Amino acid sequence: MKKFSDHIAIIGAGIAGLAAANFLQIKNIPCVVFERSKYLGEHGAGISISPNGINVLNELGLIEELRLIS
Ligand SMILES: Cc1cc2nc3c(=O)[nH]c(=O)nc-3n(C[C@H](O)[C@H](O)[C@H](O)COP(=O)(O)OP(=O)(O)OC[C@H]3O[C@@H](n4cnc5c(N)ncnc54)[C@H](O)[C@@H]3O)c2cc1C
Repeated sequence: MKKFSDHIAIIGAGIAGLAAANFLQIKNIPCVVFERSKYLGEHGAGISISPNGINVLNELGLIEELRLIS
C-alpha cells in the first residue's frame, strides 16, 4: 500500500469528506480520502442545498459547474 504519512487522512467520501479534501487541495495540503464503499451510486432523490452549502460551493469555485449540470 502507498505511504500516506505526510497526508491528512479523511475517512469517508461523502459531501463533508470531499469538501474537506477540496479545501485542502486548494491550499496544496496533501490529503487522501478513504471510502469504504466500492461503488458510486445514484439515489434518484432531489437535492436541495441550504445557503450554508451554497457558500461552501462558492468558496470551492464549484457553483457555476453545478448550475450547468443541475
Ligand atoms: C434520501 C436522502 C435525501 C437527502 N436529501 C438531501 C438534500 O436534498 N439536501 C441536503 O442538504 N441533504 C440531504 N440529505 C442529507 C445528506 O445526504 C447528508 O446530510 C449528507 O450526505 C451528510 O454528508 P456526510 O459527508 O457527513 O456523510 P455521508 O454522506 O453519510 O458520507 C459518509 C461517507 O463515509 C463513508 N464511511 C463511513 N464509515 C467509513 C469508514 N469506517 N471507512 C471509510 N469510509 C467510511 C460512507 O460510506 C459514506 O460514503 C439526504 C439524505 C438522504 C438519505
